[in-house]
Amino acid sequence: MTRHVPTAILGAGAAGMMCAAHAGPGSVVIEHRATPGEKIRISGGGRCNFTNMHASAENYLSGNPHFAKSALKRYTQWDFLDLVQRHGIAWHEKTLGQLFCDDSAGQIIDLLTAEMAAAGAELWLSTSVEEVAHDGTRFRLRLAREGRGMEVTCDALALATGGKSIPKIGATGLAYRIADQFGLAVTDTRPGLVPLTFGDRFALGCRLGGRARGYTPGLLHLRQCRCCGAIRMEVPLGAGSSGG
Ligand SMILES: Cc1cc2nc3c(=O)[nH]c(=O)nc-3n(C[C@H](O)[C@H](O)[C@H](O)COP(=O)(O)OP(=O)(O)OC[C@H]3O[C@@H](n4cnc5c(N)ncnc54)[C@H](O)[C@@H]3O)c2cc1C
Repeated sequence: MTRHVPTAILGAGAAGMMCAAHAGPGSVVIEHRATPGEKIRISGGGRCNFTNMHASAENYLSGNPHFAKSALKRYTQWDFLDLVQRHGIAWHEKTLGQLFCDDSAGQIIDLLTAEMAAAGAELWLSTSVEEVAHDGTRFRLRLAREGRGMEVTCDALALATGGKSIPKIGATGLAYRIADQFGLAVTDTRPGLVPLTFGDRFALGCRLGGRARGYTPGLLHLRQCRCCGAIRMEVPLGAGSSGG
């Protein structure tokens, strides 16, 4: 049996669920795990740093800096904060304008699934994508839903299967493979926001103050083979870029 939907969205992470909440009725989110939003669940130490009061286009690293400008013009941190408040989620500010849930990151997952349902979108969990094709008019997806094969056609296909990090909680390179299949150019990927580790040679007990390529002010502490401080994850990101 083939079912037609206007929009199919691959991946029920933050991007896929937000996309479904805005895609209009009848859209379907296809997720291979049994639960949505696992990366949100572990974000912000379990409390999800859901936005930042000082967010601006300059805070985003991108080959196309104009993208963040136009995206933030259409939807700002204040729009998301308003959504959080409408869902009755209690929040607090930590340092540097970071906003976290008082209770748990699960509240943001609940917010997104509720917004999707209100927009008339369906969430298909435990559904894997076997094949993606385009017949000249529409996309054709061959799926395995809870072990049973099915075919879906759609006018628009959104790829929201995320990055490749943490396969244990569902990450795959599916979007990269589909982009390759359709001849879409993809920029080279490299690890970003990864923990910085070092060996005995650097166990000097030093302390650096400053910024990681000017993105987040804060201190980087290097102590006895441990590295901590707000900018510890941004240092590898800056070091890996051409200007680093
Ligand atoms: C430890 C940690 C802490 C973080 N803390 C924060 C924070 O506090 N604030 C913040 O803003 N960001 C934080 N981030 C980053 C943030 O979590 C991610 O940027 C964001 O969740 C990415 O959303 P996404 O929808 O693009 O991708 P993902 O969340 O990766 O979602 C992709 C979805 O696609 C599914 N999928 C993958 N392959 C397939 C397939 N083949 N078929 C079907 N489904 C598939 C996955 O199972 C997943 O559900 C943190 C990240 C980590 C790892």
